Amino acid sequence: MSRARPETVSAEFLEPWGQEDLRHRVGAAIGSGRLPQSLLILGPEGVGKRLMALWIARALQCGTGDSPCGTCRSCRMAARLEHPDIHLHFPMPRPKRAASRAKLREAIEAQRHERLALLREDLHARLDPEVVKGLYVAAVENIRDQASRRPSMSRKSVFVIEDADRMVPQSSSPEAANAFLKLLEEPPEFAYILLTSNRPDALLPTIRSRSVPLRVAPVPTPRVAAYLTEQLDVSADRALAVARKADGAVYQARRLLDTDADDSGTAADDLLAAALDGTSRARYRAASRYSARGARGELAPALEDLRVRLRDLLCVASGATGETFDPARIASLTRGRTVTDRAVLDALASVDAALEGVGRNLNPQATIALLLEEMSTAFAGEAAETTPLSF
Ligand SMILES: [Zn+2]
Repeated sequence: MSRARPETVSAEFLEPWGQEDLRHRVGAAIGSGRLPQSLLILGPEGVGKRLMALWIARALQCGTGDSPCGTCRSCRMAARLEHPDIHLHFPMPRPKRAASRAKLREAIEAQRHERLALLREDLHARLDPEVVKGLYVAAVENIRDQASRRPSMSRKSVFVIEDADRMVPQSSSPEAANAFLKLLEEPPEFAYILLTSNRPDALLPTIRSRSVPLRVAPVPTPRVAAYLTEQLDVSADRALAVARKADGAVYQARRLLDTDADDSGTAADDLLAAALDGTSRARYRAASRYSARGARGELAPALEDLRVRLRDLLCVASGATGETFDPARIASLTRGRTVTDRAVLDALASVDAALEGVGRNLNPQATIALLLEEMSTAFAGEAAETTPLSF
């Protein structure tokens, strides 16, 4: 899989999709030095609160104006979640017993770094979705200590604390709770605290009253669909169908895409679109929708449908008309690209090889990655002497 992974994350992936107005308002506050130091970022699950918080963090650290420049050292480190003065915290499973409070805090910090590594792989990952988790006393103590230290690289330190409604009431350690509340109320002049929550009713009232709310609004359905087509190379029809289910939560739509892959026809359309697109990003996106283990049940029908699509392409090439294929749909799939019959024949051979791989129980994700690479090579390597297909 690694060869299909893009080398760098492009800027548009890091910006919360569809939140231009909010970014504009927040950016103006940052530019004029009026951004409150304790913010509570609210909005439904999957609307982009993490991306919004990290965008604010990058803008604060970049310091070139009202938005992150994306190219300076600070922005590049922050994009990789490696900025020493941007601290990302989130609820985690309750830690096992430890010999001392210090050991417990070390263990929590180690857990946090494991999850940061996951987020560096996929910034949209849901952390520990199936387990009970919280922001426990030891984690709050770590945050408090980190926030009391001066920033190491820049002049500000930014704390992003996700799902702040999961903060466990600190009856066992009232001093930790009080220290955290004091941090929210009067942060050191160099510190910014960005809390996120999709359950504002569950927030401790003491936290809510000490932070300024910032709402990340749901994105209109056509904009959600545009995200799926422009960023994830999903076909327009499917993008709209999935976007309608997402209630304006862009990244929820992205997740729905993963669980919605049972429609083999649209899955085949997406595979063909990714192969024709040819970029490693498109191929990676398409392959990453398949699991690395098991789930081959959904792969074989998609590959069979893909074979049908390719046969349709050949029919169009030879000028055939009839009921067995739909030239209008093919034309929309190829997005104006010209492909040759030789390329289609090569692609068909690759699909057959992939189907064989599925039969032998190979890793579906790796199988798709290899298939898309071979297909896009076939589509890109068209020789002049073969018959071009025009749509
Ligand atoms: Zn910058």
